[in-house]
Amino acid sequence: MGKALIIGAGGVASVAIHKCCQNSEVFEEIMIASRTKAKCDKLKAELAGKTKTRIETAAIDADDVAALTKLIESYKPDVVLNLALPYQDLHIMEACLNAKTNYVDTANYEPEDTAKFEYKWQWDYRERFEKAGITALLGSGFDPGVTGVFSAYALKHHFDEINYIDILDCNAGDHGYPFATNFNPEINIREVSAKGSYWEDGHWVETEPMEIKRVYDFPEIGPKDMYLLHHEELESLALNIPGIKRIRFFMTFGESYLTHLRCLEDVGMTSIEPIDFEGKKIIPLQFLKAVLPDPASLGPRTKGKTNIGCIFRGKKAGKEKTYYLYNVCDHEECYREVGSQAISYTTGVPAMIGAMMLLTGKWKGPGVKNIEEFDPDPFMEALNKWGLPWKESFSPELVD
Ligand code: NDP
Repeated sequence: MGKALIIGAGGVASVAIHKCCQNSEVFEEIMIASRTKAKCDKLKAELAGKTKTRIETAAIDADDVAALTKLIESYKPDVVLNLALPYQDLHIMEACLNAKTNYVDTANYEPEDTAKFEYKWQWDYRERFEKAGITALLGSGFDPGVTGVFSAYALKHHFDEINYIDILDCNAGDHGYPFATNFNPEINIREVSAKGSYWEDGHWVETEPMEIKRVYDFPEIGPKDMYLLHHEELESLALNIPGIKRIRFFMTFGESYLTHLRCLEDVGMTSIEPIDFEGKKIIPLQFLKAVLPDPASLGPRTKGKTNIGCIFRGKKAGKEKTYYLYNVCDHEECYREVGSQAISYTTGVPAMIGAMMLLTGKWKGPGVKNIEEFDPDPFMEALNKWGLPWKESFSPELVD
């Protein structure tokens, strides 16, 4: 059916590429392009002989808009799937505008020198994408991503009005290291060491990092400590779900992870302020990333499950209603299937599905769109087909 250009060759990209190659009828051709071409070639070699998808590779620095525009213009993909880092989002969007090509990502733009992520920068591109007649689909991972699709599905099929959403992200996987992060350490630590916040009655309520703690008994996992964080989909769901009064996001963390993180913070290792080191400027967090285990190396060691989902409360036909939609994913099963742990898997599968929605024309409409703005049904069907089946409950435990 068509072609995709995939930028990045890390943990998430590897899963998305495996999934595109399982879905060769839609992804007849893909190009894997990243700064380090050897990583792209390695992925191509792993898949050789196992797929009908034709794979090409290229070296690209996505921050070089002119070079990327040239690459898109010469390869002529139907969609560009950005699986590099959030710092590249705006540059890749610029190149897509130049080459008039659809764009998909999984994380919103973050300037490299400020640990602040919000949609403002990408939403500013709305008019230019509309005028160019192309679509930018923002946040097609799990959270953001599937959590937005779950919200649109709940609203379409189960509620007249949703008033409360609690997004619960539980990773009960054990990789056996004293401290490691499940996706890019720099991005992960910036996210969890920031202040928390939630949306209530039309405004943001800010909390200290890890200030709000709850224990939740996750289906198929059991009770876990979870902490309130700021998360990017809160911003778009607050706009796109009418009648919403409060949205919160909780993520589970174990004692050991938090103790290590606190210690690293206390000694200054999580700082993004450059320091002088032996006559060179270095950023402590980037140095920390270099000494921590590569998330891609966690795959063969991680055991246990993830459970990510949303609890909705609202009204249907004048009555109060509660609804919980979630997915449970097993780290070892993911590794057996695609050679990656569940965090990369739960992001890479929806990234492939988002690209498929645009490539097949199931989702269309020029502009810059968040995922919950589209019809959730074909995406929900694809989740069941491509490895992330969802479950529902009408009487879940609630979070106070
Ligand atoms: P990795 O660090 O494993 O991979 C990032 C890849 O991007 C690497 O291949 C790197 O190549 C490449 N890259 C970095 N800079 C550039 C550049 N300037 N030009 C071209 N390529 C570049 O990260 P992950 O796979 O763990 O994460 C990928 C994305 O997924 C991130 O944006 C992350 O925030 C997002 N994510 C989203 C989630 C969700 O649920 N929505 C959950 C988890 C992650 P090289 O190192 O060779 O330069």
